[in-house]
Amino acid sequence: MPKLNNRWEVPLLVVTAGLGFAAVQMLFASVQYMNGISRAAQNNVVYEVMTTAPELARLQATVARFFLPDSDVTRDDIALRFAIVQNRMKILRTQESRALRGDNAEASELLDRMKVAVEQAKPKIEALQTPQDAAALIDIFDPLNRQASQLSALTTANAANRIATNERRLTCTFWLLLGEILGLLACGVLLISLLRRERRKANRAASVDSLTGLPNRLAFNRALADAFSKASLPGDLAVLMFDLDMFKHVNDTLGHAAGDRLLVSVAERLKPLLHDGRIFARLSGDEFAIIFHKPDARSVALGIASTIQTAFAQPFDTGGTMVAVSASVGVAVPGPEDRQPEDLMKNADLALYAVKGAQRGDIRLYEPAMKQAYLSRQTLSQDLRNALANDELLLNFQPVVNLADGSTRGFEALLRWKHPQRGFISPAEFIPIAEESGLILPIGRWALFKACAVAAQWPETISIGVNLSPQQFMDSELVGIVEDALSRHGIRPDRLTLEITETTLIQNDQSVVTTLNVLRKIGIKTALDDFGTGFASLSYLTRFPFDSIKIDQSFVRGSTAQNNNELIIRSICELAGKLGLQVIAEGIETAEQLALTRSAGCEVGQGYFFDKPMDEVQCATRLSLEQLQASRLHGDATTVDTLRA
Ligand code: C2E
Ligand code: CA
Ligand code: CA
Repeated sequence: MPKLNNRWEVPLLVVTAGLGFAAVQMLFASVQYMNGISRAAQNNVVYEVMTTAPELARLQATVARFFLPDSDVTRDDIALRFAIVQNRMKILRTQESRALRGDNAEASELLDRMKVAVEQAKPKIEALQTPQDAAALIDIFDPLNRQASQLSALTTANAANRIATNERRLTCTFWLLLGEILGLLACGVLLISLLRRERRKANRAASVDSLTGLPNRLAFNRALADAFSKASLPGDLAVLMFDLDMFKHVNDTLGHAAGDRLLVSVAERLKPLLHDGRIFARLSGDEFAIIFHKPDARSVALGIASTIQTAFAQPFDTGGTMVAVSASVGVAVPGPEDRQPEDLMKNADLALYAVKGAQRGDIRLYEPAMKQAYLSRQTLSQDLRNALANDELLLNFQPVVNLADGSTRGFEALLRWKHPQRGFISPAEFIPIAEESGLILPIGRWALFKACAVAAQWPETISIGVNLSPQQFMDSELVGIVEDALSRHGIRPDRLTLEITETTLIQNDQSVVTTLNVLRKIGIKTALDDFGTGFASLSYLTRFPFDSIKIDQSFVRGSTAQNNNELIIRSICELAGKLGLQVIAEGIETAEQLALTRSAGCEVGQGYFFDKPMDEVQCATRLSLEQLQASRLHGDATTVDTLRA
């Protein structure tokens, strides 16, 4: 049998329709043939034609016997016999009789002659008086005997012929019909198998991820529901969810084709490791999930999670470029309160979220506290919606100082949220929530305007730093908003420093460079915040046009005479100096750390050693005091007097 595929569908349908049409035609034809046979077989007409000759003979005999002595034949008998003969003549001329005998010239001639003879005989019968009249009458009918017999022979032969022909045709039609039926059956079988095949293919396509060939979300959900209903003990079931850390970065820097290739490589590497009774699926993007049903699922799941991480230890091929990525894994086993399969998925998702929030590339087992944290994040997110309108947000400012003398160069604006019930909430807690919910855009805008409003009260030499989230930085309205804030409060653009973290760079490479250049053209300064914590390498400094970098506090705080953090800070300062970048050391808490950062080459810094973030009144006092000290130093009596006043 040929391999069935879609190309066969149309020809098969055409053949089936053709066969069906022909079968109907043949049915009609066979009905006609059957009618032909039954008509020919009806012996009425044939019988009447066949008995014409004997009826003629009987008429002649009756006429002959009429004049015999003691004859019992009456004139009525003769009249009756003649009437029968006349009737036969009529039958011979009917359509049916003609059809039966065949419409040939010989038969027509015979009939015409018979008609003439009968018409001649009619007056003679009425005028029958003498035996001579009877003899003359008999003579008229004599030649008709032969003619009638000939007609009868013609008719019976023709009728037999007709039956035979129709029978032959019927047999033929029967075989053809049989062929058609077999053909129809074959087409039907082929069409049904084509249909089933297509349905199987469609089902498969609906449940397979076309990129990796793994089961997709639909198939996974089905397997989950199935496993959930079968799990006798809740501890027999586990779901693992994992995704690739920094997958977006791969997509953005190497292109989507490389991203796709990476996903395929991941699937190919893991498939052989995850076959044993487990469903390994790709849910979406870089999100994968595994489900299995085994005793002591929790420890098996943790085993699988570390197998996955081991598999990620080697770089993956992305079609030419080898890329090292890690995977974050969330694991969940059903607890007593998890009644629906979706609960288990949510838990695995929460565990995965917890990994992302703590340390990427790690494994976390779901615990109820995660749900609590999730719920409180939800509540906080709701509260944050009203925080702006309710004036619950405020800014604090941390001095950025010259490390040589501690004098203020500027301030970094830091958000604070005074929650009506919970009191002050750290930005480390609410900024991620604002980012998730998109609230960071209005909040960030507010912070920018507020920071400019406060900075407008300071001397022109004092700068103001404002933190920007990646979302804000990617907002097409950013430049307009910043310009608006500066002009509204009369701040020179070069007094404003926008701080962005490495995550912003990693998420969007090219557009970041474009925006940075636009800001630079306006005269606004930019700083790379938290340098050294993420993935940014020193090469980033040459690619992105920043004005300063802020070395993350973890380097400063962790730096001792024993470790090589000082060396790292020194290298950064040297490179930055060559590139014309200013270096700001963050998180200086002790005199030792100050000495270390200074000796490493940092000229500017901030940290609790100098001051904690303060409100705008404290800022003003600090600046005034500094001005006072400076005036004292320079013996500027007027300024001292003014400030005192
Ligand atoms: P960041 O930009 O790195 O800000 C510095 C953080 O370190 C501030 O924490 C500051 O109070 C703290 N800090 C400064 N000196 C020291 C020190 O000597 N020791 C220690 N332990 N900490 C020090 P804060 O105010 O809690 O802010 C945390 C983070 O929240 C900020 O980190 C920044 O990423 C974010 N953030 C704050 N305000 C905003 C904002 O207006 N917009 C955006 N997008 N993010 C903000
Ligand atoms: Ca900052
Ligand atoms: Ca920082």
